[in-house]
Amino acid sequence: MKKIRTRFAPSPTGYLHIGGARTALFSYLYARRHGGDFILRIEDTDLERSTPESVNAILEGMTWLNLEYDEGPFYQTQRFDRYKEVIQQLLASGHAYYCYMPREELDALREAQMARGEKPRYDGRWRPEPGKVLPEPPAGVQPVVRFKNPLDGEVVIEDMVRGRVVIRNEELDDLIIARSDGTPTYNLTVVVDDYDMGITHVIRGDDHLNNTPRQINIFRAMGAEPPVYAHLPMILGPDGAKLSKRHGAVSVMQYHEEGYLPEALLNYLVRLGWSHGDQEVFSREEMIRLFDVADVNQSASAINPDKLLWLNQHYLKTSDPSHVARYLSWHLGNLGVDPAEGPALEDVVVALRERARTLVEMAQQAACYFRDELGYDEEAAAKHLNAAAEPILRAVVEALEQVQDWRVPVLETLIKDLVKALGIKFPQLAQPLRVALTGSTASPSIDTTLALVGRERSLVRLQKAISFIEASKSA
Ligand code: GLU
Repeated sequence: MKKIRTRFAPSPTGYLHIGGARTALFSYLYARRHGGDFILRIEDTDLERSTPESVNAILEGMTWLNLEYDEGPFYQTQRFDRYKEVIQQLLASGHAYYCYMPREELDALREAQMARGEKPRYDGRWRPEPGKVLPEPPAGVQPVVRFKNPLDGEVVIEDMVRGRVVIRNEELDDLIIARSDGTPTYNLTVVVDDYDMGITHVIRGDDHLNNTPRQINIFRAMGAEPPVYAHLPMILGPDGAKLSKRHGAVSVMQYHEEGYLPEALLNYLVRLGWSHGDQEVFSREEMIRLFDVADVNQSASAINPDKLLWLNQHYLKTSDPSHVARYLSWHLGNLGVDPAEGPALEDVVVALRERARTLVEMAQQAACYFRDELGYDEEAAAKHLNAAAEPILRAVVEALEQVQDWRVPVLETLIKDLVKALGIKFPQLAQPLRVALTGSTASPSIDTTLALVGRERSLVRLQKAISFIEASKSA
């Protein structure tokens, strides 16, 4: 059997959006499942709309999602010679012809057709046919090259998602494959590349379904067998409308910035249009083993931000803390926090992973373990840093000053003993201590919080809290 080869072929005219990422994921999974190759191709022939920033954004997105490609990135702008060669071959074999129809004439034709209520289409006036006399090429017109689409018969697409789709050739006009400046058009470059790159399965958005019969005809004209096609249904916003910016993040890297783990986003994307029973959580290994493009749903799927958040939390809680720590480090940096100025990041992850839904939340909660300065939440300070807390905090300082072995079990015993010795309830000590250490009443267990803040900072913060109480008393 032929080795399976799939590709992701984005046009670099914006960021990598989640629809593109899902196409990439499905192409990747299909190749991996069958031990095939996954190829990245940058379709940058639209020189006006393609930008290097966008190429970078796509590469960055692929890297963040860890969608490894076996070949590429190939750039279409580096392959113009090859496209010209194929255009020449199609001209030579009679599958393409020069068309000298000036722009104005074409516009007039279109208008007349639309006025008659017809679909605008080229009328074949420069198409050579046996016995047909072509007009004299007008002076000063640079011709385009048109593909000689078959006039009758039909194109049958056995689409892996949509099933059999049949288009009558009658419905297709002779498409331009080279502009008057000689540059190739989209449908030609895609076919030449899919052919040269040995692509066996084209998995792409169903906005391309219209192009497929034309592409299949070009393949046949080149004497080649077209690949198998799979057209994926659209992704919709939660309200069922076409996905757009107003639905929140659509760029993959924005999810990165908002504190999602790539595993969570991938797991979320794989379920957009595909399912395996009612399973929601898939490791990458499971995705590769279970995914089949033939099982993709035909109907559009709506995004569900709550589910993504739920998956993110799941992966924060269950991933190796050192893995999560790498991303947390980046998010701390985003907050202007130096991740080296505090506890081990793995410990922070373990302490906070039940309490944060995103890495942004985790970084915000963690920032106080890395910074020297600390501000108080006003309400928390008013409630807990008061006269009643002062003697308790003084006793805590006295006890903690004796501790050299600053570890959770040691601190835990010390706090318990102190609560008993002072004859108070645990929260009477824990709450003021929490506010003193973190500025707020929300933090992990008090022993863990002490350990994360560290000995030196804890003692400084306790002194500061005592001074704060004294100052508010005299105010
Ligand atoms: N470059 C096209 C796009 O970004 C994809 C072409 C294809 O997958 O065949 O929409």
